Amino acid sequence: MSEIQRMTASDVLSQHWDGYLHVCPKKIAQSMGVTLKEFDAAIQLDRNHVDHGLSGKFEFEGDTPVCYYNSSEPLLRQNFTIAHELGHYALGHGKSFRDPVSNFSSRGNEFKEIQANDFAAQLLMPKSQVLGYIRERGIVDIGKLADIFKVSQVAMKYRLKNLGVLR
Ligand SMILES: [Zn+2]
Repeated sequence: MSEIQRMTASDVLSQHWDGYLHVCPKKIAQSMGVTLKEFDAAIQLDRNHVDHGLSGKFEFEGDTPVCYYNSSEPLLRQNFTIAHELGHYALGHGKSFRDPVSNFSSRGNEFKEIQANDFAAQLLMPKSQVLGYIRERGIVDIGKLADIFKVSQVAMKYRLKNLGVLR
């Protein structure tokens, strides 16, 4: 496996984002040279399959970084999943991660999962953009902000807390 240069979400934004909202994780992946693959729907139905019940997965196939995502989940979830898996890659976490739904939710998870979730939030909701909408355009409605950034309201609320906008 080739040496990975670790990148923060802001590194990735500055190098791989075209500047348009919403931040599209699929375009970012393409720019980073990461292959995206959807889980086969049959895999998700087959309880005996090793990938059953996963939202996402990251692994190297040869030297190629590959992010899998569950395309049977809602689009906002898929976006967050892809951003989370890109986080495992960009942060140099190692060669493979399997992510059930629970890895995306609370704070009680493993350190690398928390890091990948923080990365995803920072990638999809860039600080300067979020604060710009709030302070310059006066948009403070969480639902509207979530729509603009194509994230769930829960994710936006958490991001606003993190940025110190919400208590
Ligand atoms: Zn993960």
